[in-house]
Amino acid sequence: MTHQPRFIFVTGGVVSSLGKGLAAASLGALLQSRGYRVRLRKLDPYLNIDPGTMSPYQHGEVFVTEDGGETDLDLGHYERFTGVNARKTDNTTTGRIYADVLARERRGDYLGATVQVIPHITDAIKDFILADTSDHDFIICEIGGTVGDIESLPFLEAIRQLGNELSHRQVVYIHVTLLPYLAHAGEIKTKPTQHSVKELLSVGIQPDILLCRTELELAEDAKRKIALFCNVQPDAVIQGKNVSNIYEVPVAYHNEGLDREVLKHFNISDAPAANVQPWQELVQSWQNPTHSATIGIVGKYVGVADSYKSLQEALHHAAIANRCRLTIRWIDSESLEAKPTVLDQLTDCDALIVAGGFGQRGIEGKLGAIRYAREQGIPYLGICLGMQLAVIELARNKLGLTEASSTEFGSTSEPVIGMMTEWQQGGQVVTRGTRDDMGGTMRLGAYPCQLSSTSMVAKIYGSELIHERHRHRYEVNIGYRQQLESAGLKFVGLSPDQQLTEVVELAGHPWFVGVQFHPEFQSKPFAPHPLFVSLVKAAIARHQGQLGAAA
Ligand code: GLN
Repeated sequence: MTHQPRFIFVTGGVVSSLGKGLAAASLGALLQSRGYRVRLRKLDPYLNIDPGTMSPYQHGEVFVTEDGGETDLDLGHYERFTGVNARKTDNTTTGRIYADVLARERRGDYLGATVQVIPHITDAIKDFILADTSDHDFIICEIGGTVGDIESLPFLEAIRQLGNELSHRQVVYIHVTLLPYLAHAGEIKTKPTQHSVKELLSVGIQPDILLCRTELELAEDAKRKIALFCNVQPDAVIQGKNVSNIYEVPVAYHNEGLDREVLKHFNISDAPAANVQPWQELVQSWQNPTHSATIGIVGKYVGVADSYKSLQEALHHAAIANRCRLTIRWIDSESLEAKPTVLDQLTDCDALIVAGGFGQRGIEGKLGAIRYAREQGIPYLGICLGMQLAVIELARNKLGLTEASSTEFGSTSEPVIGMMTEWQQGGQVVTRGTRDDMGGTMRLGAYPCQLSSTSMVAKIYGSELIHERHRHRYEVNIGYRQQLESAGLKFVGLSPDQQLTEVVELAGHPWFVGVQFHPEFQSKPFAPHPLFVSLVKAAIARHQGQLGAAA
């Protein structure tokens, strides 16, 4: 008999931003702690083919998978909470589903049929959900958006059909809702939850478990009331009280019985016990720091909390590993352009990061911050654009190439950063043109990088061959290598064919590293990324006045 995975569908009601992604990720972690194999997937109702073309202002960070998918940031939570690498095929959108169906229609695959939402779109959605699932015990599928949105209807219809087609004990519906507290009435209100469940019922889905987000403790009688009106068992009304740290969520949901209710629904009575101890220890380390440091992140999208989600989490992981109370100072790169405030914002930072980004806005501010870090001996990590700008800064201010720039910002006589039109991937030549579509034309996903054995980064990684995830169009112009080396820039990490610059270090500086990739995507709470661990260590040393100055 073939293995039958069980499907857990997570929908959201009342408002967005309820932490559906974290709930799904936490449930995944809890089931995994019982020895089950889980995979998490996300269905996004918007029309973009993927979030790659969306501004972080719209939808937060674009999370890049190992296999080069540009995906929703919730996949980052899934990876961090379960340690299971997400794949390109774990995230889809309305746009992608329609694009595939329409391509098939053009090919004539539908043999003259009228192509319709039901069954053609819903079949394509079901194919996405069911594909490649046999190696897993549980597939957790999060439906983006809020129940009641026009765009999410085909997704809800597809998961309704699956509930009917698969056996009842193979599918569970979890609905995440909000219980607002009205201060003047002194009460938690259950009506929006009731309405949201009605909305789900109107598309034929009766939720089995309600996950109720609340600021306050949910009294037993409120649970009974919700159960009565929403037609679920009182035990299946799970309180999701706000916590101060996202890594508290798995333990909190476990204590409320979320994983127990899921197993109960599936009639699994012999499940191994959950082991939440590692999560408890993690939170304890977080809560009991012995050091402190401040890291400044200079970026263009700092006003939007989710824009640098993975970076923020990677720093938290590294802070926990160093037992450090880490303050992250978000610094708007454009605000750095209004001198003389530049130094004010940076003086109490023990380390600086210039994050990845696109376009010209805020560039001068970032260059100013990099120069400051370079000259003052402040630990500096340049990620992707932050690495490219470190190269530009050095070329301009140490080599005197005043026109040094990236062709991303317009034509220049000194293109120290330029677009590669051809490179090797898996033994094959890949090309891209300057006029190609913006969507999906970048160097994306994991690439190998060879580190020089004498470099600081090789020591940090404890390895000379690393694999890191990329998302960019431009590269260091290797033609400037000799000149840049003469200014102290060491090309310590290169692609195996030596054509692409992956890591640079600065000679005579206590900690100055630029990486063309995004190390933050691989950091996990139980496997903090070595680069961030080392950066936070350097920041602590600087905070304690124990770090050397720049030569
Ligand atoms: N805009 C730069 C490029 O495309 C850097 C991208 C990034 O920082 N992710 O190469």
